[in-house]
Amino acid sequence: MLGYDALFINPIDDARLIRIAAEEGRVIVSSDRGIFERRPLKSGRVKGVYVDVRQKPLGQLKEILKSFGDGESRPFVRCIRCNTLLIPKSHEEARGRIPPRVYESVREYDYCPRCDQFFWQGDHVKRMREVIEKL
Ligand SMILES: [Zn+2]
Repeated sequence: MLGYDALFINPIDDARLIRIAAEEGRVIVSSDRGIFERRPLKSGRVKGVYVDVRQKPLGQLKEILKSFGDGESRPFVRCIRCNTLLIPKSHEEARGRIPPRVYESVREYDYCPRCDQFFWQGDHVKRMREVIEKL
């Protein structure tokens, strides 16, 4: 939702998770304290962010964003289903691919080539943007 290139694999063993993070330059976000005791994370070769799951989800998200640094999030540039970067599409290109009621009121769309799905900024996105702006 915030535009970060995210990968979720569950279940996964620590060794494989660390290997993927090292190979792909990813940051491990985990509530498992044990993984932070592994050498690649202790040495800083692989970056990790601990998340306290006793916090509310918004508090967890704030902690993650704080560790990533300000200004790196780009909300709604990726597909929330599959993580693929979305492609802007015109009103005409969305014709027949979305509900007629939406087509009449929304001018700009995004498209996920992997899911073959059109997205638009409906009320749910407006509500999510309001939450993001408060972070
Ligand atoms: Zn997708």
